[in-house]
Amino acid sequence: MSNEPNNVVPPTQPTETPVTPPALAAATGQGLYVLEHNRDSLRQWFEQQGLQPFRADQVLKWVYQKVVSDINKMTDLSKDLRDALRGRMEVFRSQIARQSRANDGVIKLLLAFPEDAQVECVMIPQEDRRTACLSTQAGCAIGCVFCASGMQGLQRNLTSGEIVEQLLRLQVALGRDKRMTHVVIMGMGEPLANFDATIDAIYTINEKWGFGLGARHITVSTVGIPKRIRELADHNLQLNLAISLHAPTDALRKQLVPWAEQFTIKEIFEAAKYYFDITGREITLEYVMLAGINDHMTQANQLSKIARTLRCSVNLIPFNPVEGLEYKRPSVDQVYAFQEVLRQAGVRTKVRKSRGVAADAACGQLRRRAAPE
Ligand code: SAH
Repeated sequence: MSNEPNNVVPPTQPTETPVTPPALAAATGQGLYVLEHNRDSLRQWFEQQGLQPFRADQVLKWVYQKVVSDINKMTDLSKDLRDALRGRMEVFRSQIARQSRANDGVIKLLLAFPEDAQVECVMIPQEDRRTACLSTQAGCAIGCVFCASGMQGLQRNLTSGEIVEQLLRLQVALGRDKRMTHVVIMGMGEPLANFDATIDAIYTINEKWGFGLGARHITVSTVGIPKRIRELADHNLQLNLAISLHAPTDALRKQLVPWAEQFTIKEIFEAAKYYFDITGREITLEYVMLAGINDHMTQANQLSKIARTLRCSVNLIPFNPVEGLEYKRPSVDQVYAFQEVLRQAGVRTKVRKSRGVAADAACGQLRRRAAPE
């Protein structure tokens, strides 16, 4: 992310490596799915299996700290125990259907989970940050008009384990010596429409026994479901909340995010205020910029007024082209002028750098390419 609109870089060519799925027993959906469990329930399971519960802690350490998924390599477990666990317990359930690495370091994985759920996740490096972008659903029911993820509707919700697995798969792809520093739940799907799995995954990513990433380093991006925003606030975690607004008026928002017409911007902001009051965390508004549709200076003015009511910062996201969609990205000058209006009004604004365009990182695009209609 950057403050400079000229960071809207032209795409570079990705090197794409279709991966032959390894014949892993782990991908069969057999046995206990470790990532689906918290510390207590895993210890309980060990007890039920007639094993010592502290062994669960050892397994958790291997899985989340050392990012080792192969039970054979968990060397502080005895050989007998490893033999006992194999077949009864598994760490990864997906197969890597496709992966791409762009010149700018962006890694994108297409993971195939059981029941035909294909989901994307991306790792974006920037200076000393390494951000994992995770999906919460296979497909999406929201159907924002500019987004590739919703084009084929919703296939199914992901489980909490499947959300966490994306992070671990990306961590393995990144290498064990560089730890992921941030997680953004901004991939495919609407996280708050799959609330329970999302919140369980967040706890696993955050807890000391899990991945151990501070809540302030985790961002949830939502189209804005007021009731669920309040529920998230009640967990009182220090999560960053990003609301995908995209339009400064209800009339325009209805056109860009048809599903969201059941909630007014005002209702979403009332819930956002509740979130802010409880957690004290500043809220970010996301605004995908579409040339000639929502990039006019009048709209920048309207947006700045809305943002100021809650001291929100604004992330401007120049539209990432999606095959089959006619929308255009505004010119760099237009983005800059729009940003300037917000800045003049005292609103903190960033322009999202188009990282990962190179890796087809616009929502849902790798999956579409893998499965042409
Ligand atoms: N459902 C959630 C999270 C998924 S989308 C949400 O709406 O926030 C994550 C972000 O990517 C959203 O802000 C979304 O609007 C944006 N996005 C989707 N398609 C895009 C595209 N083609 N170009 C730029 N941004 C896009």
